[in-house]
Amino acid sequence: MKVTSGTVDLPKSLSLIDHTALMPQLELCAPYLAQTTPHILLRQTGCKSPLQKTGENYCQKNSPKTSSHPKTSGSASRLPPIKIKQLREKDGNTTLCESYIQILCQPYSIRLRQTQDPSRDEPPAMELTKTKAVAGGAVVVVLIVAAGLVGHFATPQTTCQEFQPPSTTTDTPTTTQAPPTLENYLLPTSLQPIHYDVKLQPFVNGNFSIMGHVEIEMVVREGTSNITLHMADITVRENTIMLKNKADLSAIQTAGHEYDAPREFFVVRLAEELPAGAEVVLSMGFEGFLNDELRGFYRSTYTNGNGDQIMLAATQFQPTDARRAFPCLDEPALKATFAVSLAREERMSTLSNMMIKATEPVEGQAGWVWDHYDTTVKMSTYLVAFVVSDFEFLSAMAGQTNFSVWARPEAMDQAGYSLDVGVDCLTYFESYFNIPYPLPKQDMVALPDFAAGAMENWGLILYRETAMLYSSAASSASNKQRVAVVVVHELAHQWFGNLVTPTWWTDLWLNEGFASFMEFIGVDHVEPTWRMMDQFVVDTLHYVFGIDSLESSHPISIPVGHPDEINEIFDSISYYKGASIIRMMYFFLTEATFKKGLTTYLNHFAYDAAAQDDLWQFLTEAAHEDDTLAADVSVKDIMDTWTLQTGYPVVRVERDAAGTSATVTQERFLLLPSASGRSDASWWVPLTVTSQDAPDFSQTRPSAWLPAGAPSTSLSGLPSADAWILLNLQQTGYFRVNYDAKNWELLTKQLADAHEVIHVTNRAQVMDDALNLARAGQLPYDTALGLTSYLAQEKEYTPWEAAMSSLSYIEKMFTRTAGYGPLRAYLLDLITPLYDDVGFEDDLSGLHLDQYKRVLALSWACHLGHPQCVAESLQLYNNPFTPPPANSAVSPNLKSTVYCTAIAGGGEAEWEAAWALYLEANVGAEKDRLLSAMGCTKEIWLLSRYLDMAFTDGSAIRRQDARTVFRAVANNDVGRYIAWDFLRNNWEAISSYMGAFTSLGDLISYVTAEFNTNEELQQLESFYEANLDNLGTATRAFEQAIESTRNNIGWMSSNYEAIVSWLDGVAETMWRECKVNVKAVKILTGYEETNITDTVANEDFPRTRSNIARELSSVTFQKTEGEYAEFSALPD
Ligand SMILES: [Zn+2]
Repeated sequence: MKVTSGTVDLPKSLSLIDHTALMPQLELCAPYLAQTTPHILLRQTGCKSPLQKTGENYCQKNSPKTSSHPKTSGSASRLPPIKIKQLREKDGNTTLCESYIQILCQPYSIRLRQTQDPSRDEPPAMELTKTKAVAGGAVVVVLIVAAGLVGHFATPQTTCQEFQPPSTTTDTPTTTQAPPTLENYLLPTSLQPIHYDVKLQPFVNGNFSIMGHVEIEMVVREGTSNITLHMADITVRENTIMLKNKADLSAIQTAGHEYDAPREFFVVRLAEELPAGAEVVLSMGFEGFLNDELRGFYRSTYTNGNGDQIMLAATQFQPTDARRAFPCLDEPALKATFAVSLAREERMSTLSNMMIKATEPVEGQAGWVWDHYDTTVKMSTYLVAFVVSDFEFLSAMAGQTNFSVWARPEAMDQAGYSLDVGVDCLTYFESYFNIPYPLPKQDMVALPDFAAGAMENWGLILYRETAMLYSSAASSASNKQRVAVVVVHELAHQWFGNLVTPTWWTDLWLNEGFASFMEFIGVDHVEPTWRMMDQFVVDTLHYVFGIDSLESSHPISIPVGHPDEINEIFDSISYYKGASIIRMMYFFLTEATFKKGLTTYLNHFAYDAAAQDDLWQFLTEAAHEDDTLAADVSVKDIMDTWTLQTGYPVVRVERDAAGTSATVTQERFLLLPSASGRSDASWWVPLTVTSQDAPDFSQTRPSAWLPAGAPSTSLSGLPSADAWILLNLQQTGYFRVNYDAKNWELLTKQLADAHEVIHVTNRAQVMDDALNLARAGQLPYDTALGLTSYLAQEKEYTPWEAAMSSLSYIEKMFTRTAGYGPLRAYLLDLITPLYDDVGFEDDLSGLHLDQYKRVLALSWACHLGHPQCVAESLQLYNNPFTPPPANSAVSPNLKSTVYCTAIAGGGEAEWEAAWALYLEANVGAEKDRLLSAMGCTKEIWLLSRYLDMAFTDGSAIRRQDARTVFRAVANNDVGRYIAWDFLRNNWEAISSYMGAFTSLGDLISYVTAEFNTNEELQQLESFYEANLDNLGTATRAFEQAIESTRNNIGWMSSNYEAIVSWLDGVAETMWRECKVNVKAVKILTGYEETNITDTVANEDFPRTRSNIARELSSVTFQKTEGEYAEFSALPD
């Protein structure tokens, strides 16, 4: 690196844009470049997405494009030192053939302009660079620069023609690219990979380059004249590409190679066609890069106990990023075996899917060793994984499996619980699926940086820390449940997903839905007192109902091709609707039949790939054998109606005058009537029913079906009209139920009189159904709110959770209206008895759902401003404010409420105190809580600064946590518009900062959740239209947000007045009844009452039911001068 002299030689084609910035920068960069850096990678990132809805060229539309990287700040020593981008620009119709190279060497950056003579096809500066782009402007070019020669930037081996609009491929002049179809993105079917030898040497503590070598054995299935692999962000070593016959290792002649950037294809052209049946071995050396984008093979850091920055590297390949670590045939159905070798410095350790079979020194590199791993079983590329770290571990045996959990040394004391759960659950699933776990070991690793919650790589499951680490001192009951749930989810994938893999990503839902359902089965086994099966409805079903009630929802099974589309389907519909309809199937088939079909399916397709129809077939066979399904109906008949159609039905039940029979019909449930008219979608609906005469909620096998396409079905044998009936027992079916007015009335009375008669899960169902039917205009709000009145007596968690999450919609819509006061009073009325019952004293050894109930009661009471709750929180926050780990006397369960309430009520000092705690916290769950709580402040400048920090490298907020911060600010009434402005003003920077995998869509839904005015709708629509080509994976979320906002506006105009008058009526009725009682006392005794008229109903003391109750339970009457008597004025 020759920059210390302060002069830089630039080749003729490069001109410096910003002289002043250059010198300090290059000097700053010099030590990093000089370390072990043989190369600097240059990557063009300006024209990345080839997928355009309009069919127009991306670069053309969005140019000129400058750096999309957010501003950087912070210390250069902590941050990855070098980031280089090459950006191209095209100006109108003139081809400039000009590109910018930007070197980000924090905190500085260099920009160089590169011009190229279109008439000359300049040769590349280095022979290594022969990755050639073939399609349009949307290309990624990887260049290499020789060490010490910053001036010798290689000229991209692309000619000027590439800057021109791509030639048209059809007669229609506007079409510039073939439309993205699935076929376009699939590899040719001519080759089947058999085995990979992958050798990688990642310079984790150096310049982050990865020296790699891969050898791929393949069999030719159809004659072919090229070999096509996936590859991205990798530079192939030109002279190392070799193709041989497997049998005799004789060379096969190639005729060059090229890179198809939009499809991430590396194509080796052959001199002659290879015949079907030929077995060949392709090998090549290459260089990759440990990125900081949390995908592919990426790098991460953490601060150890001594305050040192420790580097590590890990992988996230699902769905399409194995190709960033090594060239491969990166499709799930193309399974092969893998022999992995990883080089490491002696002081680090490596992990991969299998056990290490040998370790040997790296020749010629002192201090380095190779870890050679056993060959894997046959598996998909997306399940391959590596970790290079200084982590420590704990081990135990799970049957025949060596089970270990790994974490950074300071966090090892939090790893024990995940090991207990893992060991217990692995052996449980072996017996549940009746198939032994096929690998000799299972490692689980808690990573400081991880994009998703966890990833089920076979034998090497990777987690973010909060999903695997549990501290009994610092983690709450819900943190503990999250650890158990995620561990179980990932272990379920070891069979469902890893052993048998979806043929293509279209069936991702089956993978994720299945694992998301097995979470409940597995955790129910590991923690039987947690009542997981009761929790399903509020945790999963009601949640996804909310999303699936929108017109912009989508079927769970959808064709996908481009990686962006694949990433987009990792959404709630795939996970939670998937889990919900699998649960429905589990109940209508019965557990025994479900397990039987599953086991035969898994055995039949082991080490192979299958589609959803394959599973349906095996389950149908089991169901017909067991006689749990009529012989003329298949699982496919039923399940196709749930997987291929959008949405879900509301089932209407109309009883006849006598009540003894009922007509059942169905219609798609939408929160707002569809703009496109009534939907004619229909589903196979399993019907279960019970009644007041003989309430029995255990019969979850359907007694009847409402077939898809049938106009109606009828139920008979029901009780007389004065007894209620209830459908969808334990809410096992994925649908809502609406009744006639009379039946709702009977259910309301039952809940008020003796709610325990109705199963706890169905109490949750009734709350969620009624409030959402009312929200959709299908049930009067009087009826729905009338049902909620019973909650004052409810002591179980799940009905409360169901009710409050539905009522929270009304609460959100009312926030900025005059009606908020009466609503708040009503909600406080409901919650106060529960609050009084659970108290502020937490009991960590108490029942799990009792702890949940306390958290719910306290968080709502504090949120609604219950004076005692707020006072208690402030006192707990400010009082024993000792540093971690003791960290005050507050129970971990209550910390979120206490922190948020105190920070909301306080100012800068309270915020800074939380920030200090955050910096010191060693437990991920505690860090998460503090991150959310800091978003509760009402100080606008603190909120703005906080958002800036969240999206800036080096601010001590990890990239993976940016969305937690954003959500906290967006949830805050004061912060919402700050977050909305921030999102709009920094859209590009935010999307680039968050990377491809993290869901930008979530940010949209957080910030627009309470939008309910026309002005907000306009802002949303104009941003959407202006950025249509720039929304990437968030496109669907924007469409959903626009629809939600429209719904909210419509809802406000239809329901606001009615709800306010109902709320007024509730307290007023009680008040009137009390006055009648007082009058009666006066008449009967002749006494005069002394104290009711003015004490009730003023601003500080609104006329709510609880205030009336408190005040009028004891009314003082004056008998004679100086002599008093007390009576209750409350109605019976
Ligand atoms: Zn999963």
